[in-house]
Amino acid sequence: MMNKILLHVCCAPCSTHAIELLKEDYDVALFFSNSNIFPKEEYEKRLEDARKIAEIHDLELVVDDYNHTAWLEFIKGLEQEPERGKRCLKCFEFNLIRIAAYSIKEGFGAFTTTLTISPHKDTHKIFEIGKGLGNFLAVDFKKKDGFKRSIELSKKYNLYRQSYCGCEFSLR
Ligand code: SF4
Repeated sequence: MMNKILLHVCCAPCSTHAIELLKEDYDVALFFSNSNIFPKEEYEKRLEDARKIAEIHDLELVVDDYNHTAWLEFIKGLEQEPERGKRCLKCFEFNLIRIAAYSIKEGFGAFTTTLTISPHKDTHKIFEIGKGLGNFLAVDFKKKDGFKRSIELSKKYNLYRQSYCGCEFSLR
């Protein structure tokens, strides 16, 4: 029997290549936990395509509560930080804390995140945060042309590709 892994999906396009890769070795379930996304309509749009990708691969999709107010509280004081700055690290932490807790509660052997596929995000910092939270599997999905592959697959599945990272501060 394959080990169970829970994959934090920041959005469907970023998950395409990660799913393809992890499915070779793991029994994968998806975790959509993205309270950072603003406005709610944008969150719903991204969730809709996460459902689509789960259906394509016949995978379980767990949808976490959306609580943007709690997220705003968590990143308080860092609103003016530039993208890739301190606010983003807190943002990763917020979502990874949630998946870590859920994966332990539900008996997953490991969890990981699609966040590492983005060339705009610091993989080592994501690893540091993840490893501090327990059974984190450090995978750099951007390796082996992962980002390029995710773009190809997003086109193939006709997925919505957003024009900004997610929070209101990345809308500026
Ligand atoms: S820019 Fe992106 S990673 Fe950074 S805080 Fe906003 S949503 Fe999170």
